This record gives sequence, structure tokens and C-alpha cells, in this order.
Amino acid sequence: MFEGLSKRLGDVFDKLRGRGALSEADVDAALREVRTALLEADVALPVVRQFIDGVRPKAIGADVIRSVTPGQMVVKIVNDHLVEMLGGTVADLDLNAIPPVVILMVGLQGSGKTTSSAKIGYRLSQGPQGMAAEFGGSFSVKRKVMMASLDTRRPAAQQQLKILGEQTGVPTLPIVPLEMPLAITRRALETARREGFDVLILDTAGRLSIDEELMKEVADISALSKPQETLLVADAMTGQDAVNVAKAFNDRLTVTGIVLTRVDGDARGGAALSMRAVTGRPVKLIGVGEKFDALEPFHPDRIASRILGMGDIVSLVERAAETIEKEDAEKLAAKVRKGQFDMDDLLSQLRQLRKMGGLSGLMGMLPGAMQAKAAMSKAKIDEGQLKRQEAVILAMTPKERRNPDIIHASRKKRIAKGSGVQVQDVNKLLKQHADMLKMMKRVNKLGEKGFMRSLGG
Ligand code: GDP
Repeated sequence: MFEGLSKRLGDVFDKLRGRGALSEADVDAALREVRTALLEADVALPVVRQFIDGVRPKAIGADVIRSVTPGQMVVKIVNDHLVEMLGGTVADLDLNAIPPVVILMVGLQGSGKTTSSAKIGYRLSQGPQGMAAEFGGSFSVKRKVMMASLDTRRPAAQQQLKILGEQTGVPTLPIVPLEMPLAITRRALETARREGFDVLILDTAGRLSIDEELMKEVADISALSKPQETLLVADAMTGQDAVNVAKAFNDRLTVTGIVLTRVDGDARGGAALSMRAVTGRPVKLIGVGEKFDALEPFHPDRIASRILGMGDIVSLVERAAETIEKEDAEKLAAKVRKGQFDMDDLLSQLRQLRKMGGLSGLMGMLPGAMQAKAAMSKAKIDEGQLKRQEAVILAMTPKERRNPDIIHASRKKRIAKGSGVQVQDVNKLLKQHADMLKMMKRVNKLGEKGFMRSLGG
């Protein structure tokens, strides 16, 4: 989705990076190009303005001009602002209320409301398995979910949700022909309460455009059902229209989050980028396909790195410095020197990595240089994988953690079972640890220079 923008910005930054020193005029010229690139990607004008205004003073600040890699610093500043513009951190669903917790799905017809209802219902009812690690938060608890369609206008709407419910294994409220939306809402609430459902997803009717009648109907349903989450579903392919629709709904209802659909399409990305800034509401989930598992949490930092092509490690390196307490680093360095890096150390590293989002930080603590970090960041692993690896270590006994050499076949099986992974995953982690130890020992032996040479640096 962000290819065009990513390429444009990549070109701008390549030019910046190519220089040793940057003048204020250089930065201004680059920011003008950034501005054009954002506008061409269909980002809302006020958002672009605000963005450039935020970046400029920092980018021409003394720190940047004087730094050894001013181009990198500017990229990092742009990255940080982009992340902030996208909402900063992942916005989880808030399901902390007395059950049945109501999720109200609103939006225009064809935006992907019904599909998204089923996707969310499916994901919530799956609990912590499969992709759940990627979701985390409210998705890490298995919930009993019921869905109900309040769309009495589109003839097949209720039927459509029922079929999706059958496909995903999520129960739907039985259809009573000719029943009106408010009556269905009441019956859905009663049924969910009586049958002990944790979550009730209400899929409302959409219209081709926003009109008063639609708004009133949705507002009445909202007043009756008191939703904990009101999710506005918007089609990313419609660009700024999606943003305007979101704004209109938000003016009338308290929208708590946005589900952006068709992010798998080739839209220019403007909707995804402006949504948060214009509406003040976080994008909580994105739809990335037609299948019911094609739903993902919206990671501002990952989107930003995707756009900025941050195989770039600047931000990771800097975050590493912030995250990793100096003391810990020193303790670890001492252990590394003695070749005593055990599973508990690996566990605490994995946890820190998860905070930072990359492997480069770990290498940052070794006596090594940028090349080492760059080499490791290429092997970037995702958050879900980190969580699984954590689980594997947690399933080990303290003795096994201190001395992983004793972990043979039967222990591996037990650990795999305890952490819900395959034996080969346990093997992989053990090998990773062994490789790290080996590498650390090599570093100790060779010293810094030799290590860089060994990485081809
Ligand atoms: P509703 O009228 O808002 O309920 O919209 P639907 O849920 O019926 O979706 C309309 C169409 O969009 C369907 O054909 C869906 O399969 C498709 N759709 C929904 N979400 C996505 C998505 O994230 N990606 C893609 N490619 N298609 C989607």
C-alpha cells in the first residue's frame, strides 16, 4: 500500500544521507519534497502541514547539523513524527466492562463492516493461539462471542453475517424476519446476557453516504446497547473520503476506534496516514484481505518503518540505548566475557528486544560496531516469535536454564508441550543460544577489530 510514498521518501533521504554536512537550506529542500510526497500519497493537507511544522525545527536543530550523520538524524526525526502521527503505540480494544461487552460496528455500506465483524469475532473467540501473540492485549483471552446483524435494509445482510458466523464458528443471533433494528438489539442483549456471552458484536446497517436517518438509527442503537467499543469501519481504498466519513461519524457518536479495511489494496495510503490525526481516534485494526483471518493490529512503528524503508537501524540503535539499562548492559558484558550467557540472560534479552522491536540492540551491547548491528538487524524477528521464544524459556526448569546442555529429547518434548510449540522450535531456540555463545566467545577472542572483519565489515 505504501510503495509509492516509500519510494519517494527513500529518494529524498538517499540524497540527504549522501552528504557529510547539512545546511538549513538542505533540510528545507528535503522537507519540501517530503511534503509533496505526503500530499501525493493523499494525506490530508492539515495533517501534512502539522507534520512538516513538527519536523522542521528539530531537523534544523543544532544537534542534527553538528552530528556525524545528519542525514540519518533527519530520517530518525521524520520516523518519530510519523509514528506519533499514526498514534504512537498499538491501540488495543477495550473490553473491560461487565459482560456482555458490546462492540458496535458502524460505517458506510460496502466498507467491510460485516466482514470485519466476523474477523473480530473470530479472532476474539480464538484466544491465545495461532496468531494471538501478534495481537496480544484483549485478544489474548479466549472469549465467548456472539454476533448480531441489525441491518434490516440490505435484504441479505443478516444472512451474510449468519454464513460468516458458520464459517468462523462464531454464533449469531437467530434471525427473526421483519424485526426492527432496535428490537433486534434488545433481543441480542437479552440473549447474550442469558446465555453468558462475553462479547456481543452488533453489525449495523450502512448507507451509500452519510444521511440523517442512518445517523439517528445508529445513535439510537448506541444509546440502547451502551457499547464499550464503537468501531468505525472505513475503506482505505477510498482515501480522503474514508477520513471524512470517519470524522462525520465521530462528530455524531463517540467512535472509540477505527478499523481500516482493504489495506491489502493498492491505495496510496493517505487514509491510513491521516485517520488518526484528523479524527483523533486510533486505528485499532486493519483488514488485509477477504478471508476471516485477514485482520491485523495497527502498529504505528511498523507502518512508519515500512514507509521509510527502515532497514535503517538508527532508531533501533537509539532506542536500544534508552531501553537497556546501563547497569544491565555491564552485567551482561561481564557474563559474556566469562562465556556465561545462559537461558535466563537470553530471556531477559528477549524481553528487552520486544520493547525495542529488533535484534540489533543485543549486538549493541557487545564490543562491536555498527556493522555488527546492521548484520543482526537484517535478521529482524517479529514480536510474535519473540513471545513464543519467551514461552519456551519459561517452560524450562531453572536448572535447564542455567545449563541448557542437559536438555535432551524427553526434556525437549516436555518444554515444547509446556510452551505450546513444536520440538523443532525448542531446537531452534537452543541452537540460537548456542550460536550466540559461540559468537560471543569469538568476539572475546578476536577483539573488536577482528569481530568486524569476521562479519565482513
Ligand atoms: P459492509 O457492507 O460494510 O458490511 O461490507 P462487507 O463486509 O460486505 O464487505 C464488502 C466487500 O469488501 C466484501 O466483498 C468483502 O469481502 C470485502 N472486504 C472487506 N474487508 C476487506 C479487506 O480488508 N480486504 C479486501 N481485499 N476485501 C475486503
